[in-house]
Amino acid sequence: KKELLKQLKGKPSETLDGRRMDIFANIGSFADVGAVLENDAGGIGLFRSEFIYLEREDYPTEEEQFKVYRQVAQTMAGRKVVIRTLDIGADKRIGYFDLPKEENPALGYRAVRICLDRPEVFKTQLRALYRASAFGNIAVMVPMITSLAEVREVKAMAGTVREELDREGAAYDKAVELGIMVETPAAVWISDELAKEVDFFSIGTNDLTQYTLAVDRQNPKLDRFYDPHHKAILRSIKHVVDSAHKNGIWVGICGELGADPALTETFLAMGVDELSVSPAYVLGLRKKVRETRVQDVKEAILTDLGC
Ligand code: PEP
Ligand code: MG
Repeated sequence: KKELLKQLKGKPSETLDGRRMDIFANIGSFADVGAVLENDAGGIGLFRSEFIYLEREDYPTEEEQFKVYRQVAQTMAGRKVVIRTLDIGADKRIGYFDLPKEENPALGYRAVRICLDRPEVFKTQLRALYRASAFGNIAVMVPMITSLAEVREVKAMAGTVREELDREGAAYDKAVELGIMVETPAAVWISDELAKEVDFFSIGTNDLTQYTLAVDRQNPKLDRFYDPHHKAILRSIKHVVDSAHKNGIWVGICGELGADPALTETFLAMGVDELSVSPAYVLGLRKKVRETRVQDVKEAILTDLGC
């Protein structure tokens, strides 16, 4: 079976009726890039930058971060690399951040909330990301967005960073895309407004399931209630795709659900533009896409979902 999948390398990720669906890969560190190339992913749809901050005694410098981002971008040689800004707090805690103890960390001080609260930490990362963009096709993605105000603050900060780099004469790609993760119900239901502010969406179904169904994603006792196939999740995804496309931006899925081949037809029917999954799933999904004729399945799937 693996041999058969290998034959799909280099082949377009396109349905029988010519609809393209990018299959990208998720990575956690530079060490994963080999598997991305080995499986011929079209790009990296989620680089979880947390690892740069983990297992060390102090904040990583701009230069340290820049080198990692540059290395990934260069190795991907022009293929898109979506790098997610720091997503810590909740499950991922880091000593030197000195985070307060919380009753409900998943609902607490995490991700973009920390970044906006500690602009010097966020600015250091943004500077490293923009500088690295001169060496490949980098896009910047911000996690855990719940409001328009947050997005505007992030954009203002990115603007400041770019002005600084301009003044210093530092090189960066002026066309770097800035996108957000849609992984809270709030972001789903204001996605029409958010879409006017950003270049792309990536739906984080792991957190979206947790927050929509009120089920702690880390509690094994709740496994049978953690159901990403729940209609509330699938309809949320459809709504986000529609908001994105009405505003002319692309939308992907980077949570685990994107890798479920039982839903590939559904995502095609909805019009999802990109799936980002563990490298090992890339070619299997490409096979699935290439065997599908969207026109044949679309109406029944959307009717069934009530969309
Ligand atoms: C998600 O929430 O679906 C996601 C992709 O991000 P993480 O699993 O890192 O929270
Ligand atoms: Mg998440």
